[in-house]
Amino acid sequence: MKNWNGIGVSDGLISGRVVRMHKVQTKKLTSLEQVKQSCIDRTGELYESTKEKMGKTHAEVFLAYQLLLNDPKLYRGVNQRLDQGMELEQAIEEGFEELAGTFDGLSNEYMRQRAEDIRGLKKMHLDMLKGEKPAFQDMGERKYILAAEELTPMDFGIIDVENLGGIVVKNGGRFSHAMIMARALNIPAVTGLTQIEEIHNGDELFVDGSTGEVVMVELRERGRIAPEDQHILDSWKQKFRERVKREEAAKNLPKGRNVTADGKEIELSVNISGPEDLKNLDLSSLKGVGLYRTEYLFLDRKEMPDLREQQEEYEKIFDLLNGKELIVRTLDIGGDKKVPYLKLQKEENPFLGVRGIRFTLKHPEILETQMEALLWAAKGRTFSIMLPMVDTVEELEQAKEIWGRVCKKVAEAGGVISPDIRIGITIETPAAAICVDMFVGKADFVSIGSNDLAQYLMAADRESVELDHLLSPWQTAIMRMIQHVIWICNERGMKVSVCGEAGGEPEYLKYLIRNGLRSVSVSRSRVDMMRLVISEAVVE
Ligand code: PEP
Ligand code: MG
Repeated sequence: MKNWNGIGVSDGLISGRVVRMHKVQTKKLTSLEQVKQSCIDRTGELYESTKEKMGKTHAEVFLAYQLLLNDPKLYRGVNQRLDQGMELEQAIEEGFEELAGTFDGLSNEYMRQRAEDIRGLKKMHLDMLKGEKPAFQDMGERKYILAAEELTPMDFGIIDVENLGGIVVKNGGRFSHAMIMARALNIPAVTGLTQIEEIHNGDELFVDGSTGEVVMVELRERGRIAPEDQHILDSWKQKFRERVKREEAAKNLPKGRNVTADGKEIELSVNISGPEDLKNLDLSSLKGVGLYRTEYLFLDRKEMPDLREQQEEYEKIFDLLNGKELIVRTLDIGGDKKVPYLKLQKEENPFLGVRGIRFTLKHPEILETQMEALLWAAKGRTFSIMLPMVDTVEELEQAKEIWGRVCKKVAEAGGVISPDIRIGITIETPAAAICVDMFVGKADFVSIGSNDLAQYLMAADRESVELDHLLSPWQTAIMRMIQHVIWICNERGMKVSVCGEAGGEPEYLKYLIRNGLRSVSVSRSRVDMMRLVISEAVVE
């Protein structure tokens, strides 16, 4: 039995057989034009198949790939090398790598993602050229564990998503496509597993997506396991039984309010990135949406969504929520999330740069359009605005001034505006956390963005695989800071919630509730489990 530790990025337990991606032969191609055209066709097919299997949001990456494939800049390095007489295969290898490297160098999450995209496209080009196609061995109805050095969205287009039970990879951060997909599919996933070469097709694995533990069972002759390994196997089986029991208990909880074991009500909401996340979600036990990450509408496209497009998108959300609470976070870009058409200035330290509210205050017209689109979409319904990355009261005041202007404009144009719209901020910088009392009476509510708060407090990149231990919410500094915010807010009567991932960790949520938290917003895949956790928590 081999026992390894990677980084758990999508919660859950799975045991099953491994499937590794392999390649099958197809027709070899000889010119760049042919390869390019085949890649465009292939991404079109992958768009369709992924849309069918996983929905439009997850398929959209292939539309972004098509934009890239039609952009001459993608091929600049390749063509230069071809002009110098280099072989096509090597020119693709070097040309794409050069381009990907320029994104690596920018060292932030969103840019690293672009490097990953370009390397994925490079792989596709090289496969086409060599007449190879990634293939996948179908396991029939059995749940399987996909193991790979790394996975590209292209791989998701061909695998059997329905029976995918878990993912283990060597490369890929928490926000790589593969890990985002794992969380969306609600299956356990582990990244950073350096021993991936030791795992082969058909091996039997146990995977714990919360701790990152991976156990490979070595079978002796006639499929027997070594006697000394039996107790490890037994303990995993026990873990599984408990997990299944808890999942069933979570599903069987009566719908309705969420109350702790000693009778205190806790508001539970969901974090979303767009209307797709609300489809087929039972909202009956939820307060509503505690964090709508609007930036997803602005990413992976050629131009800014205009007022009309934003309005249509927001309207879908209002309609799906049918009167439930909606907290809309205004555009949170810059830093990790770059948007090519906005021509953001190059920064040495983008995470410490013009991001979130800093960006929208510098470009008030963007914030105005977003606020106006929200008001028209709301048609008099109420909602809340949440400002990201706020450091100071002045930033909040400036945003409120813009809000006032936008409300006046909409009202003058005959729009109906709810009198109950509230404006709050996320607490994700130590500055805002330590001075949270200064926001009392100015912000209507605060929500703790523990993901960024941990990063800035611990001075540790939230994407770093190596620094993962520093980002644990159980770090004393993080606990003290979150506690401070909750206590001050409760004392001074300002509503406080948690919308970062710490709120989706069972024991941590219980700890927060014991320390005064009464409102939390978690990702969709955590909703059922957190209802159970709340029902077990005790306040006193
Ligand atoms: C956070 O930082 O905790 C948060 C909720 O925002 P995001 O993860 O989108 O940065
Ligand atoms: Mg954040």
